[in-house]
Amino acid sequence: MHAIGIDIGGTKIAGGVVTAEGDIVAQARIDTPAGPEIIDAVAIMVEELSVGYEPVAVGIAIPGFVDITRENVRIAPNIDWHDVPVAQLFAERTDLPVLIENDANAAGWAEHRFGAGRGVAHMTMLTIGTGVGGAIIAGGSVFRGGFGSAAELGHICVHPGGLECACGARGCIEQYASGRALQRYAHGRAERDGGGLQDLIDRAGEITADGFIELVEAGDEGALGALSDVGAELGKACAVLQAVLDPELFVIGGGVSAVGEPLLGPIRRSFESAVSASGRRPIAEIKIAAMSGEAGLIGAADLARSSLGTHH
Ligand SMILES: [Zn+2]
Repeated sequence: MHAIGIDIGGTKIAGGVVTAEGDIVAQARIDTPAGPEIIDAVAIMVEELSVGYEPVAVGIAIPGFVDITRENVRIAPNIDWHDVPVAQLFAERTDLPVLIENDANAAGWAEHRFGAGRGVAHMTMLTIGTGVGGAIIAGGSVFRGGFGSAAELGHICVHPGGLECACGARGCIEQYASGRALQRYAHGRAERDGGGLQDLIDRAGEITADGFIELVEAGDEGALGALSDVGAELGKACAVLQAVLDPELFVIGGGVSAVGEPLLGPIRRSFESAVSASGRRPIAEIKIAAMSGEAGLIGAADLARSSLGTHH
């Protein structure tokens, strides 16, 4: 039974035909058009992907706040959407049932169904990208809260009165553990200690992702230090989340997570020292995400397929 998954991003829209096992059998990708043109572009993509596959449903992952009905988007700043009745607009263009989901929730669901969290009923995901995203799987379901906007984990406060965040609050983990924060730590260490990071800046003009990973693999002290700065902050957020949700597993995703153990080690140490009743109760394992960049569309397709029995 095939379903179509669509992942709408600020720069690209990725679509795919996804099997019940989470495999992509056909794919499409376009540049994201202006906000009002996205619905038409996605409708055309769905039509083209459908040829020869007879999909049963469409799941659409959106970078923004989705309401509790999973039919409307309240706000998605990256694609300039405000109060868009997405499900209704699609109902006019396709006969397939359409479900929308926050993109981080969709990616978290994919990890739970097919990736690092397979078989784990209580899992929390933190995604380290430009910002910090999150997803909560509780009792084997996506936890959405009362209004549909649960798991905005990037806005857990780790430094009261700290750096201002785009959300309007101060001290959010997003300001201390995102890809941007990693850049800040790396530049600070280069300025202070010189070393491999400063050599990279001199050579490439900036701290590139590839150059940074090379330094990590070579055991460069500055690069490992910048990762441990991020890890220390993430560990604090995990401690807060353990107190609230008591998950069995944290999955760390996003581009930065590809470095693996040099990030996980510092997260674990910080988590274990900050968590309540440390050493006297079981706490979550911490793993790196297993899914590729297609997790959002795979998760959206799977959620759409699995909701068929309940919503349609
Ligand atoms: Zn914030």
